[in-house]
Amino acid sequence: MSISGPTQPTRRGVLAGTMAGTTVGAAAALAPSAQAAPADGRSPGPGRDDDWPAGPGRRLRPQPVDRELRAILREVDPRRIERTVRRLAAFGTRHTLSSQNDPQRGIGAARDWIAEQMRGYARASGGRMTVTLPSYVQEPAPRIPVPTRISNVVARLEGSTDPGRVYVVSGHYDSRATDVMDAESDAPGADDDASGVAIAMELARIMATRRPAATILFAAVAGEEQGLYGAAFLARSLKAEGVDVQAMFTDDIVGASRADDGTRDPRSVRLFVQGLPSSESAEEIEQRGTLGGENDSPARQLGRFVTEVADPAATGMQVRLVYRLDRYLRGGDHRPFLEEGYPAARFTEPNEDYAHQHQDVRVEDGQQYGDLPEFCDFEYIARVARVNAAAVWSLAQAPGTPVDVTVDTTQLTNDTTLTWSPGTGGATSYEVVWRPTEEPLWEKVIDVGDTTTATVDLSKDNVVFGVRSVGPGGHRSPAVFPVPG
Ligand SMILES: [Zn+2]
Repeated sequence: MSISGPTQPTRRGVLAGTMAGTTVGAAAALAPSAQAAPADGRSPGPGRDDDWPAGPGRRLRPQPVDRELRAILREVDPRRIERTVRRLAAFGTRHTLSSQNDPQRGIGAARDWIAEQMRGYARASGGRMTVTLPSYVQEPAPRIPVPTRISNVVARLEGSTDPGRVYVVSGHYDSRATDVMDAESDAPGADDDASGVAIAMELARIMATRRPAATILFAAVAGEEQGLYGAAFLARSLKAEGVDVQAMFTDDIVGASRADDGTRDPRSVRLFVQGLPSSESAEEIEQRGTLGGENDSPARQLGRFVTEVADPAATGMQVRLVYRLDRYLRGGDHRPFLEEGYPAARFTEPNEDYAHQHQDVRVEDGQQYGDLPEFCDFEYIARVARVNAAAVWSLAQAPGTPVDVTVDTTQLTNDTTLTWSPGTGGATSYEVVWRPTEEPLWEKVIDVGDTTTATVDLSKDNVVFGVRSVGPGGHRSPAVFPVPG
């Protein structure tokens, strides 16, 4: 295998082809010259004058948007999203403790309306989309004074070839006023979070007629404002059934791009991705620290993946990764999924306006407070929906991630041997990705073919490696960080 890249010639080059798997080495020794201008665009930065370390592989490029995804993105309809947000706001309040029986006002009316819409979309699916309202009674707990039924609305689109692998897109349909225990006052919850529910619904509508390889759940969950109860119930149920959830996205406060100080950034959405996994034990976290894997949790790999598949030219949006679980003092529905060991992340608008979240609807000193639809930007929500569509569709069309990915640390060597097992979904080949340890995103990719082991002529001490699956249509899975084995 011929791999370009400036590195030492000779000894390690001859390793090529000597092992059971694929060996990739320095076939061509390029002169290490012209250091000042890195070919891959990495900025040298203070104290840095070249691309160190050099190694094999081509520069990682974003995944092209294929024809079907392009069609999906085109079908996202801002007017329909606007109607959904306005309809949800019109239930007066959707507080989790509000009426569950009133046909006009309260969370029960909103629940039934969402379910009815989802069932309408499912009719176009040829029986592949089913809509359920899984629920349980939450006994008294923080912010839940009396036993309260928590109901989620879940539209499940069955995967056509790998239905056991599941992706989740979610928003929360409950809302709140200034006092989180106030179930009576108006709480239109347009941005927080009719916007996120509208995205889950719009994607359900558009994808119902299509055949993703893996299964997708489009969810509207309750109880978020009272303590993430609905999402925790969904995550717990999936875990109890042993479901292989390979990614979950919550869209929460994705309705506007203008902050209370007037800042506008309508072409950006933040994606919050946790570092140290909540599901790992103290020993696992310690090992992660020893390996320099603190920036390589499954959630971070998911974030990197989104930046590779959500082409701004196609979505109209830049994804701004934030290497943090959530904003200060805030929480979200991705958290219970992370706690169950599922990769999960949160989409949120780039600049928030706190006069229009968690506020009673009122005018004070001439200023309108409250989470009203008039402060939403429906074209903005549509762009966030396109980012979600690109992420979820690309995940569901790709093979699952490889499993049991290990790096051989049994001997001191200057090359790196990686080993893995196929995941589900029929990968036809694999790629090794790598980056210098202090870089945020994968930089180089090496096609190692249809194998389950590869030796790379580059020291594991100096870079971070990952392994990803490639499907017959060229769709890539997120990368997996190897552990010593
Ligand atoms: Zn929210």
